[in-house]
Amino acid sequence: MAEGGKRTVVAGLGVSGRAVCELLLSRGAEVIGTDVRGLSEFNGALDSIGKAGGLLHLGGHRLEDFLEADRIVVSPGIPLDIEPLVRARSRGVEIVGELEWAWRQVSLPTVAVTGTNGKTTTTALIGEILQQAGRRPFVGGNIGTPLSRCLLSKDPVDVLVLEISSFQLDTASTFRPDVGVLLNITEDHLDRYPNFEAYADSKLSLFRRQDGGDFAVINAGDPICARRAGEIPGNLLRFGGAPSTANAAVYDRSLRLSVPGSADFEISLEKCRLQGAHNRENIMAACLAATALGIGAEAMQAAVDTFSGFAHRVEWVRTWQGIDFYDDSKATNVGAVVKALEGFERPVLLLVGGRDKLGAYEPLLASLAARGKGVFAFGEAGPKIYEHLRGRVPAGLYPDLASAFKEAVRRGAPGDVILLSPACASFDQYKSYAQRGDHFKELVAGLQELNQPKAGDQIV
Ligand code: ADP
Repeated sequence: MAEGGKRTVVAGLGVSGRAVCELLLSRGAEVIGTDVRGLSEFNGALDSIGKAGGLLHLGGHRLEDFLEADRIVVSPGIPLDIEPLVRARSRGVEIVGELEWAWRQVSLPTVAVTGTNGKTTTTALIGEILQQAGRRPFVGGNIGTPLSRCLLSKDPVDVLVLEISSFQLDTASTFRPDVGVLLNITEDHLDRYPNFEAYADSKLSLFRRQDGGDFAVINAGDPICARRAGEIPGNLLRFGGAPSTANAAVYDRSLRLSVPGSADFEISLEKCRLQGAHNRENIMAACLAATALGIGAEAMQAAVDTFSGFAHRVEWVRTWQGIDFYDDSKATNVGAVVKALEGFERPVLLLVGGRDKLGAYEPLLASLAARGKGVFAFGEAGPKIYEHLRGRVPAGLYPDLASAFKEAVRRGAPGDVILLSPACASFDQYKSYAQRGDHFKELVAGLQELNQPKAGDQIV
């Protein structure tokens, strides 16, 4: 699509903003890329935009850029209530998200995955199933590669598999997936939404423009999804909830799928390397989405047998002195931590903390009561978590991960699990969840082998 003469402001120059700039410039648009960060913080990542003729306004947003734009493309990280956006909107300037803008320019079958947790795992697994079936999926969106980057590439693609965040849904006005997947809705991002209902509305908006020819894969075992299923116009495919009404259910070590229009079939989980009930939900969702696209059981089985998931998601790191260490640094909200805890039938020493997202920590209490040997709260949110949990579970407060880790190790005993599952964003002390997880792994690697077995210690 030629863009000649149109003045577009691209707000936020992260991976998706940069891809938008490059794509627009390749199509002849006039582009101003803007970010609150300064040039030195990009380590040369903006060079190609400058070389292609894009203007860069860094170190803050200029109101006049926004007011004089024909269109503003916003990155998911930009809050929609910043003044330049509010003023531009009231002047009638079109404000559109990167995903929406890129999607308008492709015409391919689209699978879109959203939910509070499990998006990355499920999106990647759907991509794997499609690969196994001989299709050529583009797998990206909120994970890895933004859709705009796909449009810049010459690789052949016949289906889009997109991970979608609520922020991307909030800036979409025509996006309509052929198959939408909603994994769960639990508290998250309350620092960006006025309340939980608004966040849930955002997630449900994935299905808003679907019609009777489209499919909606939902988790009937999730209270919010179940309650609001009636609002969804597409064909519902359910996993979770009562097995008698679900289109996918777990029976022992296999999944049974029963979808109108195709013969019932089973997927064995014997060789599957994804552990835990939450991953079984992700697999059911992925298989239902693939079924909706007409993919057969063989490709699903091959993908389930070989897919190994990702680092920092309840990832086993090491057994030391009989204690198992797991890195779940990607658990940046309470719902993910609850699932991680439920996966263990042994005492767990939980390392939790980071940047608070304004949600409640009490939902942790039920799963901690069953197996929580101690909670080691750290970082910016440490005091709040400690206040919410102390007196109800054994809890201690530490300034950072290293000191929380040291104390957990001191109190751990053979047979215990030490789990980093922080329930918070990482940005108080780290650049990313991955850096936080890597730090945890370094701390684990640094534990010296001792000759004496570890005896453990009294609870905090
Ligand atoms: P997302 O992309 O939504 O953040 P990930 O697949 O990266 O999802 O997993 C993020 C965190 O959520 C990890 O801690 C993981 O163990 C947990 N998780 C994965 N799938 C689910 C699920 N279906 N329900 C709850 N938690 C999950």
